[in-house]
Amino acid sequence: MTILIVDDHAANRKLLRAQLEAENHRVLEAGDGLEALQVLEREPVAAVISDLFMPTMDGFQLCRELRRREKFSALPFIHYTSTHTSPEEKKLSESVGADLFLIRPSSPQTLLAALAEAVRISKVRESSRQTGDNTAIVTRQYSEALFRKLEDKNAELANSCAELEQANKRIVELNSDLERRIQARTAELQAANQELERRNQEIQGFYHTLAHELKTPLTSAREFVSILMEQLAGPLNPTQLEYLGIARESCHRLKLCIDDLFDSTRVETGKLRLELKPAALDALAQQATASIRPLADAKGISLACESQADLPKAPVDENRMMQVITNLLNNALKFTPSGGKVSVQVARAVAEPGFLCLSVSDTGCGIAQEELDRIFDRLYQVKKGDGAASQGFGLGLYLCRELVKLHGGRIRVQSEPGQGSTFSFSVPLHAPEQRTRVLIVDDDPSIRDFERRVLEKAGFQVTSATNGAEALELMGQSARDLVLLDLEMPVLDGAATLKQIRQLWGLVPVIIQTGYPEGELMARALESSPFTLLAKPCSIDRLVSTVRGLAQPPETSSHRARSTELPRANAAPVSA
Ligand code: ADP
Repeated sequence: MTILIVDDHAANRKLLRAQLEAENHRVLEAGDGLEALQVLEREPVAAVISDLFMPTMDGFQLCRELRRREKFSALPFIHYTSTHTSPEEKKLSESVGADLFLIRPSSPQTLLAALAEAVRISKVRESSRQTGDNTAIVTRQYSEALFRKLEDKNAELANSCAELEQANKRIVELNSDLERRIQARTAELQAANQELERRNQEIQGFYHTLAHELKTPLTSAREFVSILMEQLAGPLNPTQLEYLGIARESCHRLKLCIDDLFDSTRVETGKLRLELKPAALDALAQQATASIRPLADAKGISLACESQADLPKAPVDENRMMQVITNLLNNALKFTPSGGKVSVQVARAVAEPGFLCLSVSDTGCGIAQEELDRIFDRLYQVKKGDGAASQGFGLGLYLCRELVKLHGGRIRVQSEPGQGSTFSFSVPLHAPEQRTRVLIVDDDPSIRDFERRVLEKAGFQVTSATNGAEALELMGQSARDLVLLDLEMPVLDGAATLKQIRQLWGLVPVIIQTGYPEGELMARALESSPFTLLAKPCSIDRLVSTVRGLAQPPETSSHRARSTELPRANAAPVSA
């Protein structure tokens, strides 16, 4: 094989040449590393034997240079030196890529063996380098494949993300569309509700006015008929008297209808208030029975009234109680044929301790089971076709129920068609707890909410309004016992609201809550005094005790009636 000897000493080269040529190797020579590179570029060489220390390029540099170049990287390379044999030099020789480190002088056998070893080592190194390369290639290919896969996955994820985003967008759109539709629907429903409420109020207002307007001429007609019947305007013959009697009875029936209409509008608008006083229910029953007896006698119906002994008094509104009993009795007579029996009974309620029970039983036509649920509904009448039911508006039992409810009791009916009916109602022996109705008027929702919770916990019945106009509307719908009024509000401020309250509801107790008691609004509010002033914010205790101190019992029929009891320009209590 061709061997390149690199040494700056010609004598060393000569000796080595002789040794190698003796073994049939072809020898080339170079005086230093640089020259060796030139030779190697020119001629194919099978192995290099190089000295370490040479001018221009030493043996380390030469080896490193060869290993750096692809085509010489596997060339067998031996460092052959005598000068330096320290372990560091050997290490350095290995590190730059030499296959063997041989000490000069060596016997020809050693030299040849070293050459063979270098060739073997370089072959091993080359194959491992290739394996390494392969591994690198495989690794690189694998990495590339992995990278591509990741890229694909990434693209897939990006697609999924985009799809999800689209879906999300769609859902958001659908949601907001749904919300819009719900809002629109809610607004529609609210508007419809308001419209219904407005119409209901309008109808109630109309009924009220109608009843009011009819009452006066009707009373006058009835009175004139009475004058004629008493023959104060001249003598009448029996036929005239009979006809006038029919006219007076018609007037009476009409009056009852108008009264019912009037009362029902007052119940509907919450304006019907009771004047509760302890009264003997049995005595009221006797009184009502006595007043209806002529009618029972005229119809040939036996009428009885029985009461348990020693019944305690109950807090009732006597007029309203009489109205209920008379109504039930009238119905009983109306639906019981001649020869029948109507009886009234008053006793302690067996199933309801602390209540009295009054029942009106008849042996009349009775009521079908399916009608019983609706019998107390407003304007409900059972269609019978016998004319009896048509003598009214279907308001009688409705009013009975509402009046009994206002007393804190309840009414029920038992009936068997063809056998008769029993209407019974209960009233408590102690006045029902009537909660004071407070109206909070404040544009700040947190204050409204806070005060509402505090006052409700303290046992008041609370409603709230966001401004003065709303408050006046609410008060128009149903009376309030006390108003808690803010001064600074949109639409209608506290001072203007107070002025209206005073004009419409007299001296209903008003508490003005303000943080600025010296302002212009306060000056205007003072023109509509009295009112109580409360600092804003104020403590829970102060709020509750002030409201309690001013609260009037709800059974008060009119705020005007009580107005004289109130102190004027009540300027306390102001609290922190
Ligand atoms: P109205 O005011 O027109 O008399 P009510 O509210 O008093 O109406 O009664 C409603 C319906 O209940 C009546 O149409 C009648 O059919 C039925 N009713 C009431 N009382 C009796 C009774 N004692 N016996 C049979 N039916 C009755």
